[in-house]
Amino acid sequence: MKNIKKILGFKKAVLNSTEHIMITNPEGIILFANHAAEKMTGFNKKEIIGKKAGTKDLWGGQMDEAFYKKMWQKIKIEKKVFHGIIKNKKKNGKYYFAQTSVAPVLDKNGNIQYFVGNEHDITKELEIDRIKTEFISLASHQLKTPLTRIKIVIEELLKNKGNLDKEQKKYLRIIKESSADMFELIDMLINISKLESGKIVLSKEQINLKNLINEVVETLKEENHKIFKKYSLKNTNIIGDNKFLKELYKNLLTNAIKYTPKKGKITILIKESKGTILSEIKDTGIGIPEKDKKRIFEKFFRASNSSEGEKTGNGLGLYLVKQIVEAAGGKIWFKSKLNQGTSFYFTIQSH
Ligand code: ADP
Repeated sequence: MKNIKKILGFKKAVLNSTEHIMITNPEGIILFANHAAEKMTGFNKKEIIGKKAGTKDLWGGQMDEAFYKKMWQKIKIEKKVFHGIIKNKKKNGKYYFAQTSVAPVLDKNGNIQYFVGNEHDITKELEIDRIKTEFISLASHQLKTPLTRIKIVIEELLKNKGNLDKEQKKYLRIIKESSADMFELIDMLINISKLESGKIVLSKEQINLKNLINEVVETLKEENHKIFKKYSLKNTNIIGDNKFLKELYKNLLTNAIKYTPKKGKITILIKESKGTILSEIKDTGIGIPEKDKKRIFEKFFRASNSSEGEKTGNGLGLYLVKQIVEAAGGKIWFKSKLNQGTSFYFTIQSH
């Protein structure tokens, strides 16, 4: 250890690290800040040392109270590492966003000795992300115009059925279905870009959950599977966003149908506990392979067995569903056994 110290000079190494590093006492009073911390924030060492971290005295205090409360709970009470994205303000008044982590350093009795905080500036990455999202949104809206024209022309042609032979009708139907798929994809991209950019504020409408689910099930026009509904709810009137709730059930039910062989069973189970509604969409289908489970909510990801029997898809549905659930403050997860079935669960607030 002594030799390593000699060779590296730990303090020197930390001082010169390109990552913003800070050490505070258990009360959050800053004892040490490295050069990168000075450079990133614009405050010098003299201004930093002795002040309280995360306050408006320095670059902090720009997040809402709940954020700091959550952070202190994690590091001081639970004595665990906190990770998060934080908005800060430099000395020159400019805002920056940082991927931050704060770790408690414990003595041998488990008491907090110090906190070590790191910051990594991600302002540029977030800006690029924002531009990408905006571009997708713009491109999607532009794509809708020519597609609408195609749709109108196909409908006109199909009206004149008498003049078409069997083969021509078949091709037209394929074009019609494909353009409907494209419409759906574009709508999904528009919704995703809205949710990703945080532009969507989910509305709070009075909704009757039973009616909403019945409407969704009806639009699916499903004939090959049995769909069961089980409600353990005192009150099926809830507060939520009608459009996005429909989108949630539609996506999960479409998947359950798509990935379950004919004559399979699909069950919708709704329960309530302490103001939270738990929905389960259960199927008896092909299941999700173990190796694909951790990637299932990723954008454009499709499991390795997803194209068995030519089941088409774009891998956006579950990503969209997760964005909606999380925007509504809920959680989503699943259980699945290969060739036995899958259950997707999600929670939403009822009021
Ligand atoms: P896709 O358009 O491919 O259906 P999703 O984002 O809706 O895209 O789903 C991602 C992947 O998750 C699917 O391709 C499929 O592999 C898997 N998946 C989703 N739901 C189910 C399910 N109920 N049963 C089995 N696999 C599923």
